[in-house]
Amino acid sequence: MRLHASGVCHSDLNAIDGTAATRCPAVLGHEGAGVVEQVGEGVALAPGTRVVLSWMPACGACPECVRGLGHLCASAWREMESGGLLDGRPRLSRDGAPVYHYSFLSAFADRTVVPAACCIPFPADVPFEVAALAGCAVATGTGAVWRTAGERPGERVAVFGCGGVGMSAVLGALATGADPVVAVDVAPEKLAAAEALGATHVVPWTGDAQTTAELVRAASGGGVDYAFEATGRPEAALAAFLSTRARGAAVMIGIPPADSTITLPALPIPRMERRILGSIYGSTRPDRDFPALLELYRRGRLPLDRLVSRRLPLEAVEDAFAAMRDGAAVRVVLDMEVPA
Ligand SMILES: [Zn+2]
Ligand SMILES: [Zn+2]
Repeated sequence: MRLHASGVCHSDLNAIDGTAATRCPAVLGHEGAGVVEQVGEGVALAPGTRVVLSWMPACGACPECVRGLGHLCASAWREMESGGLLDGRPRLSRDGAPVYHYSFLSAFADRTVVPAACCIPFPADVPFEVAALAGCAVATGTGAVWRTAGERPGERVAVFGCGGVGMSAVLGALATGADPVVAVDVAPEKLAAAEALGATHVVPWTGDAQTTAELVRAASGGGVDYAFEATGRPEAALAAFLSTRARGAAVMIGIPPADSTITLPALPIPRMERRILGSIYGSTRPDRDFPALLELYRRGRLPLDRLVSRRLPLEAVEDAFAAMRDGAAVRVVLDMEVPA
């Protein structure tokens, strides 16, 4: 397929700096949208179809899939680690040596080869960059709110980390009528962006979990029902936990380093029924949820275009990572139509 837009996600950075083990050499990128050019035997997708890419081609047959948990598909997760496609074999090479796929997609490219099960068609009036974001950040953030947490109108929400995923959680919480919605980040630019998107309160990260949590509890009238942790930092996870009210839950979305641990005060878990929920890919089912997300966008009910803070040509991917490390941009998108 030909790629038109590819979002730059923190997981790509984790692969570069070694936070997440990744088979190398690899072409990174896992948040893309484009047009099908050619299909293999038995594939029903027509060339010319616009598709957003899912990085979770669930097998439909393993115990997790049978339980309705396709985002936890045991066989897809295993094959993803191999760096090949679903048969374990890479389709990319350089000078005859294999180059591995990242999350089946390798979307930092003009063209890529992906499993048909990763392709979700979308309508022509949705911009490629919006569709691309639906494939990771938006599915992850909104899904954590709607699917993992099952947040209901009037419940109190806090979001730690206002990048593409955290900001999608803010939009998801606002869409279902959460109130208040408290955004927490270390960067003032991101707090301003969260406020512009509709967050009812913003709290700067104080550098300390306890004092930041106190600010969130004060802003939310005594603690939140759901505190979404979208940074992967253990100290933010502790702050999220401490920000919850009785029966509240800290929802862990951010990917922490493999060797990290979290230490939490134990007593409030039984005494306050405080809970911890894990969330991967927003507990999403791409073939059901991506079209629904993009339909809400088309109707003006989910302003996903406002998550894009910068567009760069594919050749400037290093600048995109620099912007991410710098921490000011919500989402940088590589736009294959921007001239280098
Ligand atoms: Zn991602
Ligand atoms: Zn499966």
